[in-house]
Amino acid sequence: MAHGLSKSRLQAFRQCPRRLWLSVHRPDLQQVSEQTGQRFQIGFQVGDVARGLYPDGVLIDTPDAGAALALTRRALAEQPDRPLFEAAFQRDGVLVRADLLLPESGGYRLREVKASTWIKDEHREDCAIQVWVIGAVLPLTGVELAHVDTAFVYPGGSDYRGLLKPNLLDAEVADLLPAVPQWVAEARATLTGTEPAITPGSQCHSPYDCPFQSHCGADQPPQPDYPLDCLPRLSGRRLQGLLDRGIADVRQIPADYPLTRKQVRVARVIQSGAAERDPAVAALLNGLGYPRRYLDFESMQVAVPLWVGTQPYQQLVVQWSRHVETAPGHLAHCAFLAEGEDDPRRAFAEALVEAVGDVGPVFVYNRSFEVGRLQELQREYPDLAPALAALIARVVDLKPLTERYYCHPAMKGRWSLKAVLPTIAPELDYSALAIGDGGAASGAWRELYHSDTSAERRAELRAALAEYCCRDTLALVRLAVFLAETQP
Ligand code: SF4
Repeated sequence: MAHGLSKSRLQAFRQCPRRLWLSVHRPDLQQVSEQTGQRFQIGFQVGDVARGLYPDGVLIDTPDAGAALALTRRALAEQPDRPLFEAAFQRDGVLVRADLLLPESGGYRLREVKASTWIKDEHREDCAIQVWVIGAVLPLTGVELAHVDTAFVYPGGSDYRGLLKPNLLDAEVADLLPAVPQWVAEARATLTGTEPAITPGSQCHSPYDCPFQSHCGADQPPQPDYPLDCLPRLSGRRLQGLLDRGIADVRQIPADYPLTRKQVRVARVIQSGAAERDPAVAALLNGLGYPRRYLDFESMQVAVPLWVGTQPYQQLVVQWSRHVETAPGHLAHCAFLAEGEDDPRRAFAEALVEAVGDVGPVFVYNRSFEVGRLQELQREYPDLAPALAALIARVVDLKPLTERYYCHPAMKGRWSLKAVLPTIAPELDYSALAIGDGGAASGAWRELYHSDTSAERRAELRAALAEYCCRDTLALVRLAVFLAETQP
């Protein structure tokens, strides 16, 4: 049976022939990640903006291929002077949908739109496939790839002119065009055969996360408990030396093998199975006074700015959580979650200044994030800058202290809070939460600000976000208490 091809199928083939084969013959095996779903959503929003710049455009508004081809033919015949969105074309059984076709000089300029901030190799191939199909039936005057311009500053009023930066790709596409028929032939041959015996590798994550990783990983030999990537920054000659000796698990590394100090420490802890905690950290922390604050921010990044003066993919603070410990073990909690549709950053900053008081250490984990956001708020709201500067001066970063003074075999050479916490407070497990990491929190915030999100869903998301951020600061409290314990 002959299988139809499309641009997305050809791109799947270009990533990995096995991916193409599975997507056609075993689509039931795919598991689409949350990040992939979010990437699609961002792409849709950017696509909407691109179309909004041409209000007289005609949208070919059907997912059905046959109907889309017929509607495209009719639009081209009856309204040749109007831009076309999602127009459908087919050549030799390969179907493509064009983001934008803009009429000019008796032909059309093809514009593909991407939510990324630069041109990637896969975008060039994407355009080449489009041109190979569309150019056979329509005079194309040029091909462009428009990506998000991070220098764009939103002036408000839904004015998104300048958000997308078109780049002419005529020459690069011309270079790729001769290869397209070969890709088509090879993809067809792949589909008529059995499942390709391709082992998982770097192609599984690049250029996209492949949705068949569970399936392909199942027939791989089990991973060692402590793979070599547990050792921080192990690469080059040192990594190759271990591989050449057939060593795949940190526990097999000989004591005299040359490693860095940090690698030696992680290997020693893994090989002994015993955690190490330097009592010097307790002295450091016990020297700090009370009240102590524990602080965590959440932010979101959007491709299409929502608020005047903001830029694409800018980190926008929308939530904080703060625990305060007035005396050992005496805790209270408060939080800020953005509300409504307006820019929440000033309210965020004002409430924060109030919540952190003016004395005592403010603990964070990885200060570059929180301090970076505070510095941005200083620039944005100069009248709040002195109070925010005073807050920055009180920040104590628990991450470098943890990295320097604590190591547990189960952390496997990682010092993220999510890696450390199970070793000191397993009951604070994030896996039981509806939102379990910063990426999911950022995605939840984007969903909250999406106009299609129902009131019920918003309430659900806000509750999950509040619980997640509160868990982060509670984790900081537990970590600080653990590090400050004087050891037996
Ligand atoms: S998981 Fe990797 S090997 Fe399997 S189909 Fe995807 S890209 Fe190919």
